[in-house]
Amino acid sequence: MLEYQLIRSKRRKTLSLQVKHGRVTVRAPHYVKSAFIDTFIQEKSAWLQAKLVEQQSIAKFCDFSQGASLLFLGEQVSLNIGTAKQARVFFADKLVTDTDLLRIQQPAFRQLNVVISNRVSTKLASDLAITKQVKKQLEAYFKQQAEKLIIERLEVISERTSLTPTKVNIRQYRARWGSCNNRGEVSFNYFLMMTPLFVIDYVIIHELCHLEFLNHSKSFWQLVEQHSPDYQKAKQWLSHHQSQLYWLNPS
Ligand SMILES: [Zn+2]
Repeated sequence: MLEYQLIRSKRRKTLSLQVKHGRVTVRAPHYVKSAFIDTFIQEKSAWLQAKLVEQQSIAKFCDFSQGASLLFLGEQVSLNIGTAKQARVFFADKLVTDTDLLRIQQPAFRQLNVVISNRVSTKLASDLAITKQVKKQLEAYFKQQAEKLIIERLEVISERTSLTPTKVNIRQYRARWGSCNNRGEVSFNYFLMMTPLFVIDYVIIHELCHLEFLNHSKSFWQLVEQHSPDYQKAKQWLSHHQSQLYWLNPS
């Protein structure tokens, strides 16, 4: 029998099932008997198991090992780790070249190659050391790509909205996507490269709107909506993919 959380309510007229973050919740009218709910769960168990497995595989953090998956521009990609004379990070898929990020096509399958240089690789004595090296190279790659893409999008959006920052930084943040200060400087987290373009655009618009309002007042959100009518979709995407959107330190 699957474990589940039961929430009864007086107003509810039907049974409902929800699988979220790997947990099952059943909502039921107050008069429904427990035995009936158990039968209901049993009948749905194949569907529930499939859902749970699906969520577990999605919720897995990137562990920087061969075959591990991570998000790039909102798409799942898998890591292929190798060694060669020169260190390099690149997509094998011919559709995606580093300078062609904006024309990305829906890929059938994409592999992100992380090549460790022979010189460095001979010094990596353990799996942990390799993992750390892969993470380091990936971070440098994400930063470099973000410096191109985010700046490019920012220029387009800045022109369209007439909101222009005094300075732009691309850096790593632990728990935020961007920031704006009272000197008119905006900063963006290079991990934004994990999110789709429409989310990147929203975060840029969000920070640029802080040039007008340095708070999250109603007027601020009205300005965001004016420049990004679909901003709720971007916020939803971010909260849906939260568990995949930051990297753990290898240990
Ligand atoms: Zn904000």
